[in-house]
Amino acid sequence: MPGVVTPPPTRSGQLRPGPDPTPRPPRGSSPHAVSPAVYRRRRLAVGLGLLLVVALVWWLVAGLSHRGEAVPDAAAPVAAATAASTASAAPSAPGSPAVSQAVVDDLTAAASAGTARLAQWDPVVLDASRLDALRAAVDDAAAALAEGSTASEADLAALAERVRTETAAVPEIVTSTEGPTTIGGVVIANKTFAMPASYAPGILPEVDAAWTQMQAAAWNDGVTLWIDSGFRSSADQEITYQGYVSKFSVDYADTFSSRPGHSEHQTGLALDINNAHPDFGGTAAATWLAQHAPEYGFVIRFPDGKQDVTGYKYEPWHVRYLGVDLATSLTQQGLTLEEYLNVTSRYTPDA
Ligand SMILES: [Zn+2]
Repeated sequence: MPGVVTPPPTRSGQLRPGPDPTPRPPRGSSPHAVSPAVYRRRRLAVGLGLLLVVALVWWLVAGLSHRGEAVPDAAAPVAAATAASTASAAPSAPGSPAVSQAVVDDLTAAASAGTARLAQWDPVVLDASRLDALRAAVDDAAAALAEGSTASEADLAALAERVRTETAAVPEIVTSTEGPTTIGGVVIANKTFAMPASYAPGILPEVDAAWTQMQAAAWNDGVTLWIDSGFRSSADQEITYQGYVSKFSVDYADTFSSRPGHSEHQTGLALDINNAHPDFGGTAAATWLAQHAPEYGFVIRFPDGKQDVTGYKYEPWHVRYLGVDLATSLTQQGLTLEEYLNVTSRYTPDA
């Protein structure tokens, strides 16, 4: 039809679009139709928003890494206390209520003493479960002193009291370079605990007095007792022990003879009665001794069936002076000294 112009088809076969009806803004202006003042305000708002997001992310990351920090162990109560005191110095920090430094210091001291007591016992303990209550108290103290703890001042004070109580329930192992080890005032000499070679007290006076009474009582019952071997010095024991080692072997000698420094005979508290030989078992003297020794403060130190605990075979002739009360109590309960004190009797591999 004349007067009607048909545009040529494009490559896609579609018609070319007509002229854009929207006028383009001048080059360099905002793509949106806003005034420069409004645009500047929007840019400021976006900038502040970004800053806020960055701050929020930083706070979250810092908080997470703080939570991930290892709780100080019981061996580092001082470090824990430092952390706790830092927390207490900033009472406004979340999760760290203000506590007085004196209470923190008190718990720190109690936990340190408890940790030291455990360190003493760990290498020599016979039944480790008897340390569980102290270990739990010390662990709880470390957690309460750790950074981020929410323990209140009353919690910390109660915990200090608990740690002290549990520490007192586990007696100190008192060692000396001049004499035997004592635990709760009781002398212990066995394969685990040795004495210096210089310690040579002879038979102690209270042991001699108790022995004299016991011997007289046995005599009155028609039983004759005598001392086969009493005090033995470290040098005496060296000769005795090496004699057995050369005759038998180290392993066999160790089942019935002590290495020098480890013999209870060196403490001045032990006696071999009549005949230090298995033949003594079953004699009238052995029967009387087993029945009456505790009345005079002595125990049969290496009972039958307790070799795993005492480290020695049954020795019905070897008595140890413990005083009447303790000797009677242990005999009635069927406890060896190792079980009572909760210690091993075991040579260290390089001993
Ligand atoms: Zn003996």
